[in-house]
Amino acid sequence: MSTHRRISPWSSSPPPPPATMEKISVAVRFRPSISQELPGERQWRVEDSRITLHRPLGTPVSGVSFAFDHVFVESCTNGAVYEVLIKSIIESAVNGFNGTAFAYGQTSSGKTYTMNGCENDPGIIQLAVNDVFDNIQMVKEREFLIRVSYMEIYNEEINDLLSLENQKLQIHESLERGIYVAGLREEIVNSADLVFKLLKHGEANRHFGETNMNVRSSRSHTIFRMVIESSAKDTSSSGDLSNADAIRVSVLCNSVSYASNFISSQNLVDLAGSERIAKTGAGGVRLKEGKHINKSLMALGNVINKLSDSGKQRAHIPYRDSKLTRILQPALGGNAKTSIICTVAPEEMHVEETRGTLQFASRAKRITNCAQVNEILTDAALLKRQKLEIEELRRKLQGSHSEVLEQMILKQRNDMLKSELEREKLAIQLEEERKSREALEHYIKEQQLKIDTLKDLSCFSDRARNSAEETLSARQSCMGTSNENVCSFGNESFSTPNLKAMPNEFVAKRSNYSALPDSSPMPESFDNVVDEDMWLHLNKGCHTDLNMLQMSPNMEPQSLPSRNTSLERCLTSEAEAECSIDKKILEATMEKCAILERECDLLREEKSSLAQALSTSEGNVKLLTAQKEELLSELKVEKQKMQDLKEEIRLFGLAFAQREGILKSLYTKSKALVENLKAHPVVVPGALEC
Ligand code: ADP
Ligand code: MG
Repeated sequence: MSTHRRISPWSSSPPPPPATMEKISVAVRFRPSISQELPGERQWRVEDSRITLHRPLGTPVSGVSFAFDHVFVESCTNGAVYEVLIKSIIESAVNGFNGTAFAYGQTSSGKTYTMNGCENDPGIIQLAVNDVFDNIQMVKEREFLIRVSYMEIYNEEINDLLSLENQKLQIHESLERGIYVAGLREEIVNSADLVFKLLKHGEANRHFGETNMNVRSSRSHTIFRMVIESSAKDTSSSGDLSNADAIRVSVLCNSVSYASNFISSQNLVDLAGSERIAKTGAGGVRLKEGKHINKSLMALGNVINKLSDSGKQRAHIPYRDSKLTRILQPALGGNAKTSIICTVAPEEMHVEETRGTLQFASRAKRITNCAQVNEILTDAALLKRQKLEIEELRRKLQGSHSEVLEQMILKQRNDMLKSELEREKLAIQLEEERKSREALEHYIKEQQLKIDTLKDLSCFSDRARNSAEETLSARQSCMGTSNENVCSFGNESFSTPNLKAMPNEFVAKRSNYSALPDSSPMPESFDNVVDEDMWLHLNKGCHTDLNMLQMSPNMEPQSLPSRNTSLERCLTSEAEAECSIDKKILEATMEKCAILERECDLLREEKSSLAQALSTSEGNVKLLTAQKEELLSELKVEKQKMQDLKEEIRLFGLAFAQREGILKSLYTKSKALVENLKAHPVVVPGALEC
């Protein structure tokens, strides 16, 4: 994502404001009490944005007092929280600034209520969505493209709430897109109502569960994300977009940048609450969820604590310790305007958790972010990529009813986005396949190397043994030395191995800690950390040294051979170890060979039976060919006969026609004769006389 400031020659909109260093806004919100306050209980009092714990007699408990910029008492509405903390973030979002708002607090303290609200008091998400659409309506000189996504982190896995088939998604990072969840469905939206429909759909897919403390306890962290892209409307008279883009590109080539596309991403996060297992009464699935929730919140606490440290201590921030902190990385100490609403429960029974949350809030408000307008000039801007195609569609549909047109454009946009996401998914799959192939190749190479080592070692030990035996017999025959001396002398053969020729495996293993990891080594069994006091410890600002908790077996440093053991012993034991490993590898390889040979035999058998079948079918083919030829020649003869017959018929026909003609003329002649005779009867002399 480019961060340069640019001035637009096309748009009348002012240049973007410079990057600003600003503190995260942190506020505390008390939810209404759900139990009657009893006499003799400690209670929280709020005076001028200062929260203090008071004893039953009214005296403040020393050291338990916290000051914040904003404290929202029980009667405050979500609307009031939104106005003070979030509204400005949404206004900035329209101008290209990233923004994040999240609710943090123990379970049942009102996080989901704050983010999602209820019928009479819409939550931060609803208010923000409405505001985004209202705000973009007011910016006439720019056009906007808004897409939304909704995900949850459940048991440390990222699931898409808008599309159930997208489960266990991975986080990726690229120069253009920053940190993003690959394969997450994004939907382009053109109205707040459409967003609410999607949210409702996503909410139904979210993991909730009943605990002693909350009948509808959020068992996952959810992140609702709105990406707002905008670009200055093209005001040139021709309105030729392709031309305008071409100019921009050529300007870019000359390294002169102009304001073009802004992109900002808004995260509205509803965290699952930290919980004391004893209080929630969680067991089974709930317990497992609780451990994951605590683990990721602990990682969040660690990140906040490190960020609130000053100077050098900030050098390494363990964002990669959890999916939550990785996704929220830009919001915590990065390029975003961020607000945290820390929700607390006022009841006496939650005093310790409330205190923990207030300590978390005190640390968080020290964090400074560097927010700046996100301008992009590359093709990463979806708006830019889609613009031409949409314009084409618009032209084609000119004259249609505008609502139909808008719907079709929205559909077209979403189709295009989907195909892009699909392409991205495929690219990731391809990359993963490439990596696994590389790993396989690497493994094969390693195995080959080990086999080579084995060969070298066996040659080496044979040579060594031979030379030792030779020397021994020579000494025995010449000097008659004791067995002890022979042994030490014999060992000398091993003291000068050709180290240069030794493969890597022959060198004592190095520690795994040579490269600095970008995440704290997270112990495998960290899941089992259900010690709630860890919370309070964390919220007080202590960094949890995750190494100290328990070290996972594969992270244990490999011990180097003791310095005072002799090189010979070290090398010999290394060689023996290698030998036994290699022997096993050799055995495994031989076993594989035997299997392969068996398979080969089977294949050979198959081949010969196939060859037999082939020769039989070849014989059949020959027979059939001969039969066919015979039939063909018979057919030829028959054909000739038929032609002869046809000729005969033709000749007979001709003769018949000829005779018919003769007969016809004879008939006509005789008819004429009869007619003539009738007309002129012939008197035969003598006939009358008779
Ligand atoms: P969380 O998400 O922190 O676990 P919820 O938001 O689910 O807690 O709140 C627990 C209960 O308290 C819910 O029944 C919710 O309606 C109620 N509640 C929380 N905050 C408020 C508030 N400010 N006003 C009214 N009811 C609230
Ligand atoms: Mg909740």
